[in-house]
Amino acid sequence: MRTIDHRLLIVGGGAAGLRAAIEADKHVDNLGVISKVRTLRSHSVSAQGGIAASLGNTGDNESDSWKKHLEDTIKGGADLVDRDAGEVLTQNAVENVIELEHMGVPFSRTSMGTLDQRPFGGHSLPRALYAADRTGHAIVYSLYGENVKRGTTFYDEFFVLDLLTEGRSVLGLVAYDIKTGEIVIFRAGAVILATGGPSQVYDLTSSGTASTGDGLAIALRNGIPIEDMEFIQFHPTGLKDKGILITEAARGEGGYLKNDRGERFMKRYEPENMELAPRDKVVRGMQREINEGRGINGENYLHLDLTHLSREKIKRKLPTIRELALDFANIDPVEQSIPVQPMAHYCMGGVPTDIEARVQSKEIGVAWENLYAAGEVACVSVHGANRLGTNSLLEAVTFGKRAGRFAAQQASSSDGVEVDEAVVSKYGSRIESLLENEGSVKVSELRDRLKRIMTEKCGVFRSGEDLKEALNQIYQLQEDYDGKLVVEDSSQKFNTELKMALELGNMLDYSEVIVEAALAREESRGAHFRTDYPERNDSDWLQHSLLHRDSTGEIRHQYREVDT
Ligand SMILES: Cc1cc2nc3c(=O)[nH]c(=O)nc-3n(C[C@H](O)[C@H](O)[C@H](O)COP(=O)(O)OP(=O)(O)OC[C@H]3O[C@@H](n4cnc5c(N)ncnc54)[C@H](O)[C@@H]3O)c2cc1C
Repeated sequence: MRTIDHRLLIVGGGAAGLRAAIEADKHVDNLGVISKVRTLRSHSVSAQGGIAASLGNTGDNESDSWKKHLEDTIKGGADLVDRDAGEVLTQNAVENVIELEHMGVPFSRTSMGTLDQRPFGGHSLPRALYAADRTGHAIVYSLYGENVKRGTTFYDEFFVLDLLTEGRSVLGLVAYDIKTGEIVIFRAGAVILATGGPSQVYDLTSSGTASTGDGLAIALRNGIPIEDMEFIQFHPTGLKDKGILITEAARGEGGYLKNDRGERFMKRYEPENMELAPRDKVVRGMQREINEGRGINGENYLHLDLTHLSREKIKRKLPTIRELALDFANIDPVEQSIPVQPMAHYCMGGVPTDIEARVQSKEIGVAWENLYAAGEVACVSVHGANRLGTNSLLEAVTFGKRAGRFAAQQASSSDGVEVDEAVVSKYGSRIESLLENEGSVKVSELRDRLKRIMTEKCGVFRSGEDLKEALNQIYQLQEDYDGKLVVEDSSQKFNTELKMALELGNMLDYSEVIVEAALAREESRGAHFRTDYPERNDSDWLQHSLLHRDSTGEIRHQYREVDT
């Protein structure tokens, strides 16, 4: 079996993984970045609108400060933000974005030549630095370039299946080489998980096909809890039926949301902030309009109207949005409204980490020596119950950088590490049995059933009854996966159906946790809205949820106080 050694391994080549690698390179000289897709196709590349920092240099935001940024973040997160983590995020934001600028990110500028900043929902002042509407693209390409300069080793198209562990220490990883079909052992002195989010468990999502939350399932398999998974963010403006995001910057630049009567309906729900209220509030407003029959033509979508903005502004500040609307909906936003609907976008929850990005959960006595997590897969708890736009790229680079530094300092050499070959061959057998299964249920069929259940029963509005129904259906899907799944493609090389089957196994695993956590939380807060418990309840629920699978396979619930 092929064995590859590195001092430090980073799983994920998005903003978090790439930023971690740059920082780690200052401390160790032998690190590898593994990605199941080509690194430059990681989802971070699709981020559009911007990255937050209280730079305060555009004239209308001079009074900005990290404290205001922190206050907005806590308020937007419905008070479920851990203050220590929020402070790290906001206090270091300016330094971290300036570093990006120095690495080559071409941020858009004002006519005075200073870095421009645009408004975003829930931020009390214009705070989002941006590179037109391709901010993620600019950031990922610059971080990648910096890594190439530093000689980082990249392993593209390797699918990480699991950690190799001994007690609470990580010895390395077991991965499947998508290009050859081989199982490969990676040994390492420390591992950083930067595997991104799980939005693909929903029908309509802005996230790329790789956003299947593999890191969450890896955590669950190793007895690690996942935190606050009931908080899934739906983005207000997905292009109708397409799973393509129309950035919030379109509203930041002055766009209106309108219903079938042409009303700016947000005045009913958020008269002060209107379209720039935090996302959870805008989405619920939209969903109510749709449910009450005021969607466009009575259907399940609304209009995003930019026609009152100048052609010049749209072309300069929202060029990609215009292109996407033209290419995918045959609509020119300069002249016509864009049809939009809410779609799954981001997961506030994830693998619990401390502010050094180390995986830990004191409550259930889980503290890993050399396992770290950063970016969307992690829950250091800076977004609480609802993330503000532009805070996620910031989180990815802030905690990616910290993970890189602390993991590198912790990483010992992997020389002489003994890996239990039996554990590794278990994965080889699992893949063989997936390929040999003669079941009747196709991977795509099972996956679509899961996505439908999650969307219908665990979406913007949830109820106890729906969530119980979702759980029962997920149990059924898990049984079908184990007993009836068929992978029709038996090829060794580039077997995308097999890869999809592995991802589906992961999705079925943590979907159960999302639904259980949503069922347990009998209140409404941030992105989690229970129609049967519509009020926020601080006396019982001002706490983080931590769910893990015990050794018998049962899901166990624990809770933790918010650091206020
Ligand atoms: C369309 C869109 C627009 C957005 N716009 C903004 C914005 O303007 N501002 C903002 O702040 N946030 C935005 N976000 C959110 C933000 O972009 C993401 O949360 C963030 O980029 C996540 O970065 P990441 O590094 O954690 O993960 P990702 O960029 O998703 O990268 C995950 C990496 O992990 C790898 N990986 C996953 N599983 C495995 C496995 N099993 N084996 C090996 N490798 C694996 C993948 O190959 C990939 O390299 C947007 C999100 C979307 C979807």
